[in-house]
Amino acid sequence: MYVVGLTGGIGSGKTVASDWFSEQGIGVVDADVVAREVVQVGQPALFHIQQQFGDWVLLENGELNRRALREHIFQHPEAKKILENITHPIIRESIIQKLASAQSPYVILVSPLLFETEQTHLTRRNLLIDTPEHLQLERASQRDQSSHQHIQTIMSHQMPRHEKQRRADDVVMNDGQLSHLYAQLEPLHRQYLDDAKKTAS
Ligand code: ATP
Repeated sequence: MYVVGLTGGIGSGKTVASDWFSEQGIGVVDADVVAREVVQVGQPALFHIQQQFGDWVLLENGELNRRALREHIFQHPEAKKILENITHPIIRESIIQKLASAQSPYVILVSPLLFETEQTHLTRRNLLIDTPEHLQLERASQRDQSSHQHIQTIMSHQMPRHEKQRRADDVVMNDGQLSHLYAQLEPLHRQYLDDAKKTAS
């Protein structure tokens, strides 16, 4: 399966871009959605997290107490690695299965951590939705009803833009109207269709 990774910082436009690909009939696997699925009640990752950290990681209804876990990681930075060692292989396996079952000529893997988690091993090309920081701030804070400061803190923990630009094969600049974004995606979509066809033959 020909997989195109799609990434970008918070509020960069990954969702609007992946929705556009989806409208063109292209399968989309969202790593964030998978990461949430694997810790749902009854899923093995949740069981392992409970085994590792204790019952306090669960809410009364059995769901993951994300807030408590976030706090714990904040207080004990080494716990992040332990948590990732549990969740990352399970997330990766689920992503691989979903990518393999896609029915379209190629498939998009949307992931904010495409480069950080080595998901690029799963992709043939990597597309960056690149957005100036002031627009990321404006759009994300408006969408989430969050303060600029909160979004700024998240941005400061993400891989810098220039590093993502360096690693990406394709870069689209999302600094105008949505129509401007879509117009840049159109030729890339045609290129991915062509490449996928060549690879398959
Ligand atoms: P996150 O990583 O935080 O989930 P994202 O990369 O998926 O963000 P989107 O949700 O697609 O980003 O976009 C952020 C917000 O900005 C959304 O409300 C979206 O509708 C809006 N937006 C994205 N691109 C544009 C644009 N070119 N013009 C106007 N609004 C835009």
